[in-house]
Amino acid sequence: MRYLMSGVAAAAILGACTTTEQTADAPSSSEASSASQRVVETTSPDYWGSWGIDTGHMDSEVRPGDNFFMHVSGNWFDEFELPADKTRYGAFDLLREKSEQQTRFIIEDLAAEEPPIDTAEGKVAAFYNAYMATDAIEAAGMAPAQPYLDQIAAIDSREALAGVFMSPGFSSPINGFVWVDDKNPDDYIFQMSMGGLGLPDREYYLKDDEKSVEIRAKYEELLTFLLGKAGYDDAAAKAADVLALETQLAQADWDRAVSRNPEITYNKLTRDELIAIAGDFPLATALEQLGVMGEEEFLVTEIPPTAEEIASAGLSQEDVDKLGGGMPVAFELANTAELDTWKAYLAAHMLSNFSSVLPSDIDDANFAFYGTALSGQPEQRPRWKRAVSAVSGTLGEAIGEVYVDRHFPAENKERMDELVANLRTAMHANLEDLEWMGEETRERAREKLDKFNPKIGYPVEFEGYETLEITDSAFQNSVNSAVWQMEDNLSRLNEQPDRNEWFMTPQTVNAYYNPGYNEIVFPAAILQPPFFNISADPAVNYGAIGGVIGHEMGHGFDDQGSKYNGDGVLANWWTESDRSAFDELTTALVAQYNQYCPLGEGDPCVNGRLTLGENIGDLGGLSLAYRAYQISLDANGDGVVSEDEQAPVIDGYTGDQRFFMAWAQVWRAKYRDEAKRNQLLTDPHSPPEYRVNGIVRNFDEWYEAFDVAATDELYLPPEERIRIW
Ligand SMILES: [Zn+2]
Repeated sequence: MRYLMSGVAAAAILGACTTTEQTADAPSSSEASSASQRVVETTSPDYWGSWGIDTGHMDSEVRPGDNFFMHVSGNWFDEFELPADKTRYGAFDLLREKSEQQTRFIIEDLAAEEPPIDTAEGKVAAFYNAYMATDAIEAAGMAPAQPYLDQIAAIDSREALAGVFMSPGFSSPINGFVWVDDKNPDDYIFQMSMGGLGLPDREYYLKDDEKSVEIRAKYEELLTFLLGKAGYDDAAAKAADVLALETQLAQADWDRAVSRNPEITYNKLTRDELIAIAGDFPLATALEQLGVMGEEEFLVTEIPPTAEEIASAGLSQEDVDKLGGGMPVAFELANTAELDTWKAYLAAHMLSNFSSVLPSDIDDANFAFYGTALSGQPEQRPRWKRAVSAVSGTLGEAIGEVYVDRHFPAENKERMDELVANLRTAMHANLEDLEWMGEETRERAREKLDKFNPKIGYPVEFEGYETLEITDSAFQNSVNSAVWQMEDNLSRLNEQPDRNEWFMTPQTVNAYYNPGYNEIVFPAAILQPPFFNISADPAVNYGAIGGVIGHEMGHGFDDQGSKYNGDGVLANWWTESDRSAFDELTTALVAQYNQYCPLGEGDPCVNGRLTLGENIGDLGGLSLAYRAYQISLDANGDGVVSEDEQAPVIDGYTGDQRFFMAWAQVWRAKYRDEAKRNQLLTDPHSPPEYRVNGIVRNFDEWYEAFDVAATDELYLPPEERIRIW
């Protein structure tokens, strides 16, 4: 069983890395020497000008009003070439490169002290070394995986199948995990949802365009190869069966955009009700095995809504058509599809899941599909980078503790506290001015805003990993990690949610909002230029990290977050008329984003519904950041930025210009088409050009700052500009 955990609850500023973890190359000697010199290198220069903007890479030939994204970064796009081991590269990725190398130095330093294997430091070193030992992985061959293949081969009943579905490390059409109850966030509850597809989304199985057909053919080839490795004589026939079974699962699955509505995904069932939904599938056996049979209540995501629920959630017939049969059908398939097909499914998925710690032919084949075919990445990342990711994924907070000591100065935290406070003040001011919202809802919004819990840099307490056993076998370590994560997750059922917990490590370049805890969280690694620059011009900091802070606050008030109150409870705090005014504004934003089609005809466009929450975060976030910037300029606090309080002009740019340029600069990123296509289908974040152009064109202040004319391409007449927060 694989874990979703915080994925269900938290909204980040950037999507997860689109590349899955793969292949085996020993580090080249040049890599080894660059590491010993301890110099952090980046693919694009880590240079952000003397006051925070890399003006040397602007393209003055492009009018800001035609394409602001390219106006700010056009020359960088002309010059920069994506390295073969990357599917995307931009400011986020540059910081990830830095974090990756700093993490490597930390691991090497920890290892150099030869710490005992039962300490966190010893575990980090041993995990890394085992992962890097590709000769040992090669020599071990299929032997480490054999007990798990044997376990699958021994399945002779639906009970045994249910048992393997619920075991760590195996794929399953049914996910189970412990997470907070959205309507009672002081308690954990066991939750179930659909899962287990090998392709990134149901759309990949259901669409009939050329590209989708080609991807499915390549996926079937991968399944054939993996089943051959698992010892199947009829691998091709079995692969076809597995693909057909996954296609049935995909048909039963739910559309991502429609599933954003918690009113249809929050379904509390008693144990008897849940077991009834599973029909003849021996779910009780599975729950027993997990030790959750004693639970009285469960949350289940994909339960087909009743006519009443459809009406109350405001779903159209078109929406309803995108909801498959859900969990009841998943259970039915688990119970009725050929046992042999499920066994082949489990074997192929298990080898794919653990491919990075199996011999290179498996690792390479898995990369050829998930890396190259699906994401357009020509070459695998160097082994050490993958090792760093793997260690961080397993023992991340042990590294994070050292990372914070080395790379996060105390004054950064102080400055961030100040910025967050200013953003909060700005939102209070914005709430005063909102014309579409009535007084009653406004008061509730203020309450929610006051209850935001900001977390900056790193957790108060780091994870200890006492019960995680690390060995000299990379495969065993990956299995142990899956087991540890599952046990850690299940043990929560006996605990109260810990609001001090973090769901990203300090060395992660990202940020998130978690509605159940009403918290905005900024790991140390994102608090660097070009996002946060302690010596940069204030306009730049407000446009960059200010926008990021505002984005996370905006999630508290987006299409999903606004359905949770200040205590993190999924409960309505809106009057009916205010909710419909909000829906009208967000529907207009959906329509704006639906028009954006970066890949051209026949390929997917931006899905305005799927990306709505992130787009509200960006639009609201930049609006809060702008207001906060204006408040910061108003030295005497009279509510007006007078002539002598105006920001200075720097290198010919006004404060307002620098503010918007900073927002554009943080989103500067180049993509491969395959990766962008994948993002359009699966990622709730819009591609970066629309996070810039799609946002600024709704700001009156941007039109003024850059003299945007009605004839410019991004021009929107004032009545079509949307302001939500
Ligand atoms: Zn976000």
